[in-house]
Amino acid sequence: MINTRFADRFSRKTGILELMDDMGKAIDGETKMRMLGGGNPAHIPAVNEIWRRRTEEILANGAELERTLVNYDTPQGKKVFLESMAGLLDREFGWKLTSKNVAVTNGSQTAFFILLNLFSGTRVSEDSGKCDGGMNKVLFPLCPEYIGYADQAVEAGALTTRPAKIELTRPDFYKYHVDFDNLDIDDDIAALCVSRPTNPTGNVLTDEEVAKLAGIAASRDIPFIIDNAYGAPFPNIIFAEATPYWDENVVLSMSLSKLGLPSVRTGIVVASEEIISALSACNAVISLSNGSFGQVLVQPLIDSGDILSLSRNVIQPFYKERSDQAVAALRDALGSEVSFRIHESEGSLFLWLWLPELPVSSAVLYERLKKRGVLVVSGHYFFYGLEEKWDHADECLRISYALDPAEFEEAAMIIADEIRRIMEDS
Ligand code: PLP
Repeated sequence: MINTRFADRFSRKTGILELMDDMGKAIDGETKMRMLGGGNPAHIPAVNEIWRRRTEEILANGAELERTLVNYDTPQGKKVFLESMAGLLDREFGWKLTSKNVAVTNGSQTAFFILLNLFSGTRVSEDSGKCDGGMNKVLFPLCPEYIGYADQAVEAGALTTRPAKIELTRPDFYKYHVDFDNLDIDDDIAALCVSRPTNPTGNVLTDEEVAKLAGIAASRDIPFIIDNAYGAPFPNIIFAEATPYWDENVVLSMSLSKLGLPSVRTGIVVASEEIISALSACNAVISLSNGSFGQVLVQPLIDSGDILSLSRNVIQPFYKERSDQAVAALRDALGSEVSFRIHESEGSLFLWLWLPELPVSSAVLYERLKKRGVLVVSGHYFFYGLEEKWDHADECLRISYALDPAEFEEAAMIIADEIRRIMEDS
């Protein structure tokens, strides 16, 4: 019988399960689906060619193939990979890192499961190891935030968020900011966490916001987690001016997924030696060690610096062009009859559409679009952990633009048409 607290938390119908399930069913269904829902990176031929070439190299070199397949790595990751990664970040950004500041996880999603539970939950006294009656929480200072964090805390109520402040930047566009005036941080807050660039909105926190959050975290001696899954130096799906940030108090999470390798499940965490050591200990319990293939595959690209030129010269321009095309297609389709705003597209793979006058919820719009062969994600999933209801949470859609532009254009026309129908019926 499955009747534990763990089962209750992790096997119930979470937002992310519903979403992934719905996507799977839509692919298998009978209606033609335009898949603007998932977070899968685009298949870029020039990038795929590199993975093919590297795989052939590994196959052709017996010793390398053995190193890749037949040994468990340490729970922290492959020593040479950790050294290469520390070296790359040091050369690029001047961060004084050693391999002791880097750990690998089986995807950054797993890194977050470990990190969020290292920092949130029932608090114990450092001296006695006994509960002190308090509950540590992780604060996401800017909601909406990545849905993948929402259900990861083992203890209920351990994650909390604050609504973003909205800036209307120019006609048809807007941008979220951290609302520092309402960012009350009580003693239960044990870590801050942001994704930069942000999934779902394409927002990139400004350098000033990052510096302020880092300052708050440092003054309270709590970690500041920055999820850099889309950021620099790789995959560099970032279109805004933004300086990558790390200090001893920052936990920087990176991933090979959006570089085009989601299935090698390789997450990379850069943090203080203390945090890396705790994370590696958790890796040992949860997975023994991590998959080696992703690390071996990209190692030469890290050593040569080719991972940087690939990200800057191929991946970034590819997504920038897709983003520009998607914004133009969506604006054209929505025209002037529909009241809408698009979040400034500053990075990641998504457009975030705000429909302030929509007479139905985004969840209803999502269902209606699905019936018409367009799969997006209803924005309400990304507004977890709020203390008060926020109407804005039912007014947004996340739309991936990793897809073929012609298909995106077709989908944009259907989205606009469905919104017009809803408006006319109300
Ligand atoms: N963080 C963000 C912001 C994401 O968008 C994703 C995936 O879409 C992840 C983390 C997890 O990625 P992975 O586990 O593939 O590294």
